[in-house]
Amino acid sequence: MIIDCHVHAGELNKHYPVWWIEELYRVWGGVHQWTYDRPTMSVGERLVYQMDQVGIDVMCIMTSDHRRVYPNDAGPYTPNDFMLEVKAVAPDRFALTGSVDPFRDIQGSVREIERCIKQHGFNAFKLYPSYDHFDPRDERLNPVYEKLVELDVPMQVHMGWTPCKNAPMKFQHPYLLDDVGARFPELKVVIAHVGWPWVEECLAVVAKWENFHVDFAYWGWFGAEMTFQTVKRIGDLCGYDKLCFGSENSHTHMAVGMFQSFGDVANKLGVDPISPENMEKIMWKNTARLWKIKPKAGVKKKAAAETS
Ligand SMILES: [Zn+2]
Repeated sequence: MIIDCHVHAGELNKHYPVWWIEELYRVWGGVHQWTYDRPTMSVGERLVYQMDQVGIDVMCIMTSDHRRVYPNDAGPYTPNDFMLEVKAVAPDRFALTGSVDPFRDIQGSVREIERCIKQHGFNAFKLYPSYDHFDPRDERLNPVYEKLVELDVPMQVHMGWTPCKNAPMKFQHPYLLDDVGARFPELKVVIAHVGWPWVEECLAVVAKWENFHVDFAYWGWFGAEMTFQTVKRIGDLCGYDKLCFGSENSHTHMAVGMFQSFGDVANKLGVDPISPENMEKIMWKNTARLWKIKPKAGVKKKAAAETS
């Protein structure tokens, strides 16, 4: 079983301007593979096709709202309701991570979180401090954090680097979440990208706060050895309940293969492998627990041979 907790879902030109996607993915070959590929498929069909190709059972798909930080409110924006359209393609294959840009309207954000979760069964919410130019320590955000605690929904949060030029690095440091942990120790937090390159800092806050977790989105980029060693170090220090497999769109294919090669990597490095029980936690159980997903066995096609 594999659950991928970090996948963006949107349509090129409609939700993401081409210039934005090209800026974002240029360092990774300049393509957002399956946004450009298979143009006749809908977003949902394309993601199911990809899941079947690489052997993923469920994807947690996410929105974003970066309108406010670009001139004329023209930044990328995927409305939360679009996720319902994507999910309708294959309801067993998707879990929904909504998002708000809290500084468009704090109280409106609180209402939107409540609407998505109570009326539409969203599983999580994501905040993007760097992309949306805010400091997560800002106390004006308290009503948003309070609502997530009240509804017992995890907050996934972009931390760490992005190639996006309009995303200030000063809001990318995992230590900024220490204050959030202190004020809302019950809030379940998933720090995206292990906060790279501030991995040590991320490890420190995750070790400190019981309800803090990490995802490994875009670590396909770093290769199996570096990822294995980081996974093992965080797992050994913080416990294996804190790590979630997540790929990031352009890295999905390589990320799955990389995590599946961890046994070989351990052999090569001459260190103890990660136990099968702990690998299961990383690959799906932790995300299933946090996002409250009850995955159905047998939903994916038997992949590769049939679909390649
Ligand atoms: Zn991402």
